Order: sequence, then C-alpha cells, then structure tokens
Amino acid sequence: MVVQDATTVWQAVLGELQLCVPKPSYDTWLQGTSGGSFVDGRFTVSTPNAFVSEMLERRMYSVVSQAVEKVVGEGVEVAFEAGPTGLQADHDAREATNGAHPSASQANGTAPARPVRAPGGRQSPINARYTFGRFVVGKSNELAHAAALAVAEKPGRRYNPLFIYSGVGLGKTHLMHAIASRLVAGGIHPIYATTEDFTNEYIQSIRNGTTEAFRDRYRSAGALLLDDIQFIIGKEQTQEGFFHTFNALHLAGRQIVITSDRPASALTLLEDRIRSRLAGGVVVDIQLPDYETRLAILRTKSEEATLEFPEDVLQFLAQGVQSNIRELEGCLNRVAAYAELSGQAVSPEMARQVMSDNHISGRPKAVSGESVLSAVADYFSLSQEAITGRRRDKQTAMARHVAMYLLREEANMTATAIGRLLGGKDHSTVLHACSRISSEMDTEPRLRQDVFNIRASLSTA
Ligand code: ADP
Ligand code: MG
Repeated sequence: MVVQDATTVWQAVLGELQLCVPKPSYDTWLQGTSGGSFVDGRFTVSTPNAFVSEMLERRMYSVVSQAVEKVVGEGVEVAFEAGPTGLQADHDAREATNGAHPSASQANGTAPARPVRAPGGRQSPINARYTFGRFVVGKSNELAHAAALAVAEKPGRRYNPLFIYSGVGLGKTHLMHAIASRLVAGGIHPIYATTEDFTNEYIQSIRNGTTEAFRDRYRSAGALLLDDIQFIIGKEQTQEGFFHTFNALHLAGRQIVITSDRPASALTLLEDRIRSRLAGGVVVDIQLPDYETRLAILRTKSEEATLEFPEDVLQFLAQGVQSNIRELEGCLNRVAAYAELSGQAVSPEMARQVMSDNHISGRPKAVSGESVLSAVADYFSLSQEAITGRRRDKQTAMARHVAMYLLREEANMTATAIGRLLGGKDHSTVLHACSRISSEMDTEPRLRQDVFNIRASLSTA
C-alpha cells in the first residue's frame, strides 16, 4: 500500500477544488484548511473553526469527497475537524512575521492570499490583498482614500479620529486593511477589529474577570481600527468599554479609525458622548462609483485572474452592476468560474448569461415592446402579424408565448398592455403564457437557449 501523507493529498485536492468551486466560496470556506490525517481510509480535513467545518459538511461535502477520491482513489471517508488551537496560535505567530513586510509582497505584485495578522493582535487578520496599491481611486472615493493615506502615513496628527462612512461593499474594509498594513510597515502596531470582535472580546473579559487585560491590550495598541461600528448600537456595556478605550487612546495621541455603513449623525442610538467624540474628528464618505471607476476596478481585479477578460466583457459588467463593488467583483468571479468550468474563453455572451442567472439585467433601461416583438419574430422566422394574430400551430403559439414572457421580463409591460400589443388577447392568457414559459425553461434546455439567444440579441440591439 502506498502511504500518502495528508498534507500532500490535501494540496492536490485543493488544486482540484480550485477548478470547480466558485472563487468566493473557495476563498471563504477552503482557503484556511489543511490536511489533517489519512488513516484507514478516513481522510480528515483540518479547518480553522467549528463553523467552517459545519459549512463544509453541509454545503460542500460531495464536491470535496469527489475531489479526494479523484486524488487517492475510491472508498475514502472524508471528515472535517476544527484544528487544535495550539497549532492555530503557532500559525498566527508565523503569520505575524509575514505581516511586518507587506510592502515586500506588494512590490512583486503577488501579495499572499493568506491573511496576515498584526503582531500583538488576536483579532481579525489583516488581508494582505487590500492595499492602497490595489485601491482604485475615483471621484466617489478620493476623499476617503486621501484621508486614509494621510492617517496611515502620519497617524495621530490631523485626522483623529477618522470616520469613514458608506453603503455596503464600497471599500471601507479595504481601506482599513490598507491603513493597517501601511502602519505595520512603518513600525506601528495597530489593532484592527470588527466591532463584533471587539464586542465579543469585551463581554468575554467581563465574564472571565479579565477586564484588566482587555484594557491593557487595547490601550497599548499603536492605533485602533474599528470596523462597522454600527454593530455597537444598543449594546450599552460595550459602548461603555469602547468609550474608555477611545478616550485613553485619543489622549495618548494614537490614531483611531472607525467605519460605519450609516452616517455618524444617523447613529442615533449611540450614547451622546460617543457621537460627539466621533463628530469631533474628520468624517469622510464614499459615494457610489461612476462607470469609469467601476471599469477601472474590474480591470484591476481581472489582472489577478489567470484568464483573459476582453474589454467588452468588462464594460458590460461595469454597466450592469452599479451599486456595490463587492457584487461587481462577484460577477467577475462568476464569469471566471463559468469560463473555467465550460473550458470556453470569456465572452460577452457568457457575461450576459451569468448576469441573467443572477437577475442582473445588464441593461440600464427596459427595451421597447416593438423591439421585443421584432426580435422574437426574426428569431423564429415568422412575421410580426403571425405573432399578433390568431394562428394556433405549435411553432407560432410557442413564439407568441415567448414574446409575452419577454415583453413582461424585458420591456416591463403589464399583462394588459401586452394583451393589447398582441392583437387584443386577454390579460389572463398573457399571465398564463408567462408562467408556463418560465416553468418550462427549468426543464427544457432548448427553450432556455432560445430565450437566452433572443435576450442576447435584444441587449446588443
Ligand atoms: P465595505 O467594507 O464598504 O462593505 P469592502 O471594503 O469589503 O466594502 O469592499 C468590497 C469589495 O470591493 C472588496 O473586495 C474590495 O477590495 C473591493 N473594492 C471596494 N472599493 C474598491 C476600490 N476603490 N478599488 C478596488 N477594489 C475595491
Ligand atoms: Mg466592511
């Protein structure tokens, strides 16, 4: 029997999984795992914590066990186990050494995918990919970027505290991590914590009677970066802890940066004394990115992928997703996964498919009823009169139903208006046709393809 060590096997399995698991899921659930043991046909995967184990077990069991079997042969039982904490701590210590040189990894353009931790911090790891270098600056975020850069380079001077506010997925956390890495590079050791971490740790310290240690640790921080302060709303005890920490650090001239997805004035449930402290610093916001910025961001992100992304695909995505950069990135990753799975080159059609699967229309405006009608007629080689008329042969009836469906989905018309456009059909007939097409699309690939093709012809029209 060939003895295979678990670490090597798991490396190979991860290689397999990288090809068939969408990148966001891979990054979230598989990145921090390692080979545990491989004994008597039982392969154990070591995970960072019980939550990850449970998610892998529930959501990815079959894909993981198939990948394992592909590597070592059939009949292997796979189990997930949260790794021993001792090992994790050791791992953290090694990671912390990495964290001291973020600029080195930036220089060669291949920042480690693994998170690094700020030395001394037990909190959330600092993501080495979220650097200033990878933050695309546009009108929507130039102020926040400039302020973040200023505090990273001259902490504790002019902008203290710095309060960054924006809607979700617009770059607050990215800037926080960029500040943290830059501070570490400059010899200052910040504590970066999500407000949830901070809350848990504080409550824990009260429970264990270790508030002294909690206080010492935070007060010795070179800077405090607290992400998503809105989570502190309604948690009176934690607000108390935060207030004292804040005051001590501020008095000592240490930089404090806070983010929120609500403006400071809207954090009405915070105690007054905290609110006035926040308002005493500098408040910057991040607006929705414009088209040019979205395109630039996609270009940057696509350079990290191994695939070629043609410019027209990037433009298409930048047009389709307007409100959230995380979502924009998600679409890019899904297109990449789709291309990898299908073995095809990335194309605008593929992007359209991915976007429509995710209910993103890709077109800012609805198309006109007439253009839908003519696209359907063209596609099925029928006249428009045939579609609006009474003929009942199978082909014509089917085209008519597809037209009704697309008029509602793509032209946003009401059933009554559709009935009128189609030569005076009853609105219930229209509704019936729409629901029939949408359910048949689930079971009939041919129909799904037809609808997809017509949609695509509409988008380019
Ligand atoms: P928030 O904390 O505001 O919810 P994040 O910082 O988590 O948002 O950003 C979501 C995603 O979008 C991240 O992957 C981040 O790298 C990316 N992102 C946001 N803004 C930019 C930008 N200006 N340039 C490059 N990537 C960005
Ligand atoms: Mg965030």
